[in-house]
Amino acid sequence: MSLQFQGITKRYGKTVALDALTLDVAPQSFTVLCGPPQSGKSTLFRILVGLEKPDAGQILLSGRDIVGDPPAERPIGYVPQNFALYPHQTVAQNMAYPLTLARFPKDEIAARVDRTAGILSITHLLAKTPDQLSGGEKQRVAVARGLLKDAQIFVLDDPLVGLDYKLRERLMDELKSLREELNATFLYATSDSLEALTMAQRLAVLDQGRVIQDGEVTAVYHQPSQARSLDLIGFPNANLYPGSVADGTVTAGPLRHPAAGLEEGSAVIAGIRPEHVRLNPEGDTAGTMQARVTLVENLGGEAVVYLDLDGHSLTSAIPLFDRAPPEFDSTVGVRIDPADILLFDGTSGQRLAGSR
Ligand code: ADP
Ligand code: MG
Repeated sequence: MSLQFQGITKRYGKTVALDALTLDVAPQSFTVLCGPPQSGKSTLFRILVGLEKPDAGQILLSGRDIVGDPPAERPIGYVPQNFALYPHQTVAQNMAYPLTLARFPKDEIAARVDRTAGILSITHLLAKTPDQLSGGEKQRVAVARGLLKDAQIFVLDDPLVGLDYKLRERLMDELKSLREELNATFLYATSDSLEALTMAQRLAVLDQGRVIQDGEVTAVYHQPSQARSLDLIGFPNANLYPGSVADGTVTAGPLRHPAAGLEEGSAVIAGIRPEHVRLNPEGDTAGTMQARVTLVENLGGEAVVYLDLDGHSLTSAIPLFDRAPPEFDSTVGVRIDPADILLFDGTSGQRLAGSR
């Protein structure tokens, strides 16, 4: 089922929550909407499911505008952000509630609750009340409740927030398989770009109420269309520096790049991902830039190394294999291939042709 947002605008007083947002959601895709807090993710979802009306714009479902349709008539399942279960109802009653409201027949409701509980491995919880559940179990029930509807589009608003990482990993895997099983479109919001990269087939980057880039997840990661997209997606955060063109060279923070075709004096933003900032083996400082190690995060198989290079901070992510990470306050040789540097217009932030 095709889904398109066209020019969706929503204001709350002076706050512009959504600013003529446009997005084509690929049918049967796992599409992640990733943007910082307050970028408009929840507002977009509330408008999609019909809890709020946009000030302008259309939502086309299979080509038909559904903006005026009552929520119950929209074929969309919804897991709201921070959903709290009703404390005095059992898990089964909590799950059934939206269908009860929509006056589904009792046996139909029971059959769906059983089936969805089975898929999400919560059958053993159905008779319990929320106070008897762990945090992870509650979240699983909230997700199950949203997936109960016989829909072709499911909307999940930051459903894993606050869970410990083992539980998150498990639920992430389950949600991906669930999408395949239901063969539905999943639209999933998160502000965590690592979670977004893990989950997404397609990724839409949201910033200040607009989709600034969308596409297949690896394309968005490797070919950011603007500096903000590079800034928002990826962990650890990308290195970004304002700079300018002089004597045929882009100089931005510690980065240097041939200015091929760029006007002398023009403002540029240059960026590089931490995995492209390579470090020489310990003691080998020949023919490279020298940097001081200001912090090391050892993640086992890799390390994030924070550096000071001529007064500029620079983050490097290196695979460790069988070597130890560099030591705090030591000096390391840094290698940057200019081909790995991404260049953006200093004013608009748009990617400049010719870099990478
Ligand atoms: P996100 O889900 O990405 O964190 P939201 O959609 O919740 O973003 O919020 C987008 C913007 O709209 C924020 O500035 C928020 O304060 C504002 N906003 C959202 N809902 C309301 C509301 N009901 N009343 C006033 N402002 C709101
Ligand atoms: Mg939100």
